[in-house]
Amino acid sequence: MVIIQRSEAIALGLPKYYTGKPCRHNHLSPRYTRSGTCQECIREFNGSPEDQRNHKSRRKRVSEMIIFRVRLFLDDLDYFREIVLATNRRHLPLISPVDCWRSEKGHNQHGPTALYNFACFAGDAQSLQELAQHLFNARCAKVEAPPVYQAPATDWPKDDPK
Ligand SMILES: [Zn+2]
Repeated sequence: MVIIQRSEAIALGLPKYYTGKPCRHNHLSPRYTRSGTCQECIREFNGSPEDQRNHKSRRKRVSEMIIFRVRLFLDDLDYFREIVLATNRRHLPLISPVDCWRSEKGHNQHGPTALYNFACFAGDAQSLQELAQHLFNARCAKVEAPPVYQAPATDWPKDDPK
């Protein structure tokens, strides 16, 4: 998707725009120009009560995930992402990839390697880091505690259709 800021979309009269940044629910989805609301959030919000319950419990589980960092060669990134995704799906089958890799671009570039953030469930952090070391000669950095969970009910923008 083409990156268009909201101000540009307003100027061009476009109904939607796309910043390339995830929304507060970690969707990489276009947003409506008028409200600034994420299209995927609206879709989930309009889903059946069961969908909404699942969404809530999924968000709760995702909020409990921990972040770990691995220094990888770019060539190994896609492969390791698949490993992290598959590992997380053992706990949460519907988890989306954006909830598993928390940095689109590597940071702290050093030669051909960069540091990438991933998220996993607490019990898997050590084995995933060991795997990265054995498979890719990766360097692993510290694991962070999960962020404080924000209840979804209070997350909606004021002008959200309800
Ligand atoms: Zn969203």
